Amino acid sequence: MRHPFACFTLSLTLCCVAARGQSASPSPAPLTIIRAGTLIDGVSEAPRKNQLIFVRGKRIEKVTDGSAAVPSGSHVIDLSNATVLPGLIDAHTHIFLWGEDPNKGGYDANILKAGIALRAARATYAARRALEQGFTTLRDVETEGAGYGDIEIKQAIEEGTIPGPRIFGATRAISTTGGYNLEGYAPELEMPKGAQLVDGPVEARKAARQQLEHGADWLKVYMTHRSWVDKQGKLVSQPTLTVEELQAVVDEAHGWQKKVACHAYNGIGLQRALDGGCDSIEHGLEITDAQIAQMKRQGTWYCPTLSPYYDDWAQPDTPEGKRDRARAAVHEISFKKALQAHLKIVYGTDMGGIPWTEPIAQEFKRMVSMGMAPMDAIQSATSRSAEMLDMKGEIGVIAAGAYDGSIFKNEIGK
Ligand SMILES: [Zn+2]
Repeated sequence: MRHPFACFTLSLTLCCVAARGQSASPSPAPLTIIRAGTLIDGVSEAPRKNQLIFVRGKRIEKVTDGSAAVPSGSHVIDLSNATVLPGLIDAHTHIFLWGEDPNKGGYDANILKAGIALRAARATYAARRALEQGFTTLRDVETEGAGYGDIEIKQAIEEGTIPGPRIFGATRAISTTGGYNLEGYAPELEMPKGAQLVDGPVEARKAARQQLEHGADWLKVYMTHRSWVDKQGKLVSQPTLTVEELQAVVDEAHGWQKKVACHAYNGIGLQRALDGGCDSIEHGLEITDAQIAQMKRQGTWYCPTLSPYYDDWAQPDTPEGKRDRARAAVHEISFKKALQAHLKIVYGTDMGGIPWTEPIAQEFKRMVSMGMAPMDAIQSATSRSAEMLDMKGEIGVIAAGAYDGSIFKNEIGK
């Protein structure tokens, strides 16, 4: 895809400009002007031809028509043969997830056999991959047993030690006993878990406080866990937290002015996620009309992550194969209903679940193939995700006042 490439060029170039600015004397930051053959600004309905983007320091100063005067001495980046768009936002990733591929040992090997240094090295690779593909912001929704590693990778990026996108980290995530991997081992063994498990509102609130204390930008809660197909052929998902447990998490997060992302497939768990006040529904495979209406009323964000559910199905005659097909069938219906209802759909891939070697832009194709307008899909990965992340006007848009799309210190909440 061409768009991320143009964006990649923009990011890296401006990154260099920023580095030069930091090492120079205290004179005003140098002016860089990007000449865009076509500009998709992340907000407007139509692209604009032949635009100039004036960047001073970390921020965009103004955007003008291509005929505007270029001050002498400014650094001009000529992208007149390219389409320029804001740094993209993937609102659902796992930089610490690696090895879901059964050939590499599956999920369990990632926790049982990879030490924390190896996992950090792989997360570093994932962060660089995202940046190289034009994704300058990630909402990384849990480390899968790697503790607070996402916040430390974020620190390493912010201090300039490694290249990577701006990260909103959810740290450990929260589920209940019986609500997360590792599972299926001898009951007398105390196995490590990929999430922080809680039972009861007191433990739920405590986990939220611990995660927020250690730097979580978002909280992630698993509201469903296992899923299967029942005798009637319907997809069923095991619910995890009660409404009271979730409310304790949400109440605590909102007090810190943070938000809660809820993994929820369908049924009881999805209903509890909405009743408990989740800010975003992750996956949302099967959403009823009443639940769509409730999301609309409550302003809930919807991060469908279509891609992982349409590849690598198990054999059709196995329970897993039936489950995989049932998931995909209802997911498409829910996505189309959400489009029709104008729910606030944000772009998320579940990278990590998808190997980090694969293209991050693949979700665009999937969304558009299911009826989303191309510009709507771009906005889901730019201005709309920015709004969910409380960064409206600062990222996901090319307009005066926005960051230049490169990697910079996350200044919110500091
Ligand atoms: Zn995920």
